[in-house]
Amino acid sequence: MDTQLLSARSPADLDAAAGLLLRGGLVAFPTETVYGLGALALEPLAVRAIYAAKGRAATNPLIVHVLGEDEARPLCARWPIEAQELVTRFWPGPLTLVLPRTDRVPDEVTGGGPTVAVRAPSHPAARQLLARVRVPLAAPSANRSEHVSPTTARHVLRDLNGRIDAVLDGGRCPVGIESTVVGLTSAGPRLLRAGAVPRSALEELLGEVPDAAPAGSIAASPGQQKRHYAPAALVRLADATALPRIAADLPGPVGAVIRGDIALPQEVVSVRLPENPAGYARDLYAALRELEDRGCTSICIESVPASPEWDAIRDRLTRAAA
Ligand code: AMP
Ligand code: MG
Repeated sequence: MDTQLLSARSPADLDAAAGLLLRGGLVAFPTETVYGLGALALEPLAVRAIYAAKGRAATNPLIVHVLGEDEARPLCARWPIEAQELVTRFWPGPLTLVLPRTDRVPDEVTGGGPTVAVRAPSHPAARQLLARVRVPLAAPSANRSEHVSPTTARHVLRDLNGRIDAVLDGGRCPVGIESTVVGLTSAGPRLLRAGAVPRSALEELLGEVPDAAPAGSIAASPGQQKRHYAPAALVRLADATALPRIAADLPGPVGAVIRGDIALPQEVVSVRLPENPAGYARDLYAALRELEDRGCTSICIESVPASPEWDAIRDRLTRAAA
């Protein structure tokens, strides 16, 4: 199939994107976190096409994107006070809630499980698309399964050109890493995936939000796979002092992702990212894809500070290196 490149700045293109979705098609669209690969969430065949295009395991559930609480509630069998508080504070935005599902939600979306993940994105293009289709959209990240998430339309095309109906180009995603996922199905709130909303912000509202238990339960969610968010290269993490030696030892061509001034062997292709977590998150996936595109078969990454504002980034780096 031919993949159309549409512009989120064009109302006619937004209409075209909505039309493709309503006919059961696949359209990648920008969100504030990363590009999502959208399809009608309540249509099993449309949802199955997402798995086929990505090469994703059918047991790996998808996040359902909605405009807001009114659209989310019919999908959820319970709406506890914690859900209400989180949604009031963080929606629209990069926070996903996992709740018991109603039977409106097809098995294809939930991986056959009893819960559904819902999120209201804040990106204007995502919202304009949702307002046009007027139904929930299932949308995992718009990359081939287990690859780095896309933060530009070009990244989407690199992975999925010819496999999806269209990509709606809305420029670079401002957050750059995936949403925070909170489970509200068990005894209390659990952090299923670190993300753009920090744990401390959740805890201000809810009290302690521990990690989900690692095995069984809803914790067996896709973002929790050990290797995930990974470039097609050998990835190693190292602190600034060890990095030059590790870069010299890795099989080449070698790429490096650094934050500060580090003297590296001259054959190493390096990308320097911002020292602040928001800027680093915004640019990280583009940096990994750039090194991949430049032929690097090994990538060493300068490890990031141990402080909480780097949690989500550290999580992604650890998985990329697993
Ligand atoms: P992505 O493919 O990057 O959009 O990842 C989807 C994310 O949604 C995963 O990382 C999970 O954390 C989360 N998720 C979706 N549905 C569920 C669910 N029913 N239970 C737990 N996590 C879910
Ligand atoms: Mg993904």
